Amino acid sequence: MGLTIGVDIGGTKIAAGVVDEEGSILETCKVPTPRTPEGVVDAIADAVRTVSTGHDIEAVGIGAAGYVDDKRATVLFAPNINWRHEALKDKVEQRVGLPVVVENDANAAAWGEYRFGAGQGHDDVVCITLGTGLGGGIIIGGKLHRGRFGVAAEFGHIRVVPDGLLCGCGSQGCWEQYASGRALVRYAKQRANATPENAQVLLGLGDGTPEGIQGKHISDAARQGDPVAIDSFRELARWAGAGLADLASLFDPSAFIVGGGVSDEGDLVLDPIRKSFRRWLVGNQWRPHAQVLAAQLGGKAGLVGAADLARQG
Ligand SMILES: [Zn+2]
Repeated sequence: MGLTIGVDIGGTKIAAGVVDEEGSILETCKVPTPRTPEGVVDAIADAVRTVSTGHDIEAVGIGAAGYVDDKRATVLFAPNINWRHEALKDKVEQRVGLPVVVENDANAAAWGEYRFGAGQGHDDVVCITLGTGLGGGIIIGGKLHRGRFGVAAEFGHIRVVPDGLLCGCGSQGCWEQYASGRALVRYAKQRANATPENAQVLLGLGDGTPEGIQGKHISDAARQGDPVAIDSFRELARWAGAGLADLASLFDPSAFIVGGGVSDEGDLVLDPIRKSFRRWLVGNQWRPHAQVLAAQLGGKAGLVGAADLARQG
């Protein structure tokens, strides 16, 4: 059998799914994300009980956005839910009567892609997730690298611009201020303001003002050839690719996997990322190049990865 449950805690919904050893999701359920920490624990337990009915479940893996300790038990700090040293493993175990592990959500997504998605066939993989912010995950020699204290691979807050843009984390010039979905929208608004004549399609998809531009408008406009939308993706890709070149200096993986909503655009964004990566890769003429691949599992990577990490104990 070998069935486990993966749980993905999102900002608006909590998803739970029964996952088999091949990474296939057999059943899922979704519940709204409650506002209070205790409410979230109850909602996770309810979702796990609902989805496990009729299945023989071995363990539960929870992917949580935040710093998770090295014992995979406690969320030390979460930016979006008010968790401070939250003993999530113990609380959920008491409610569902199954072994529980807690993983950082970006680590869980990286593991999902490594095992069942774009990373198959590679042993050394570095993932970045370009969502609202920028998340990361590292697999070295077939193992998830969590770091001594469990909080490795927080790439989004590497400072890439001294005295740069203020970040939500309190620092300045963090990578996610330049390479993320939020950064993409900022680029588009700036460019549409400066040269509205080059953003006719983009502006037409929203309310006609630069302030009304949303991420989905930029994707649609880029596919229709809107110069500002295409240039905004290129700017994002320039920063993303340069960062991957730095990560190659650190980890020397055989593949980078780019996931998150921005990567849904495929080669529209992947090709300029590859170009920038080659441009900034030190000694690029004289060394092997890691592949830069689009993630394959989409929004399911975290759930599938958390379930598989629970199976590994
Ligand atoms: Zn930051």
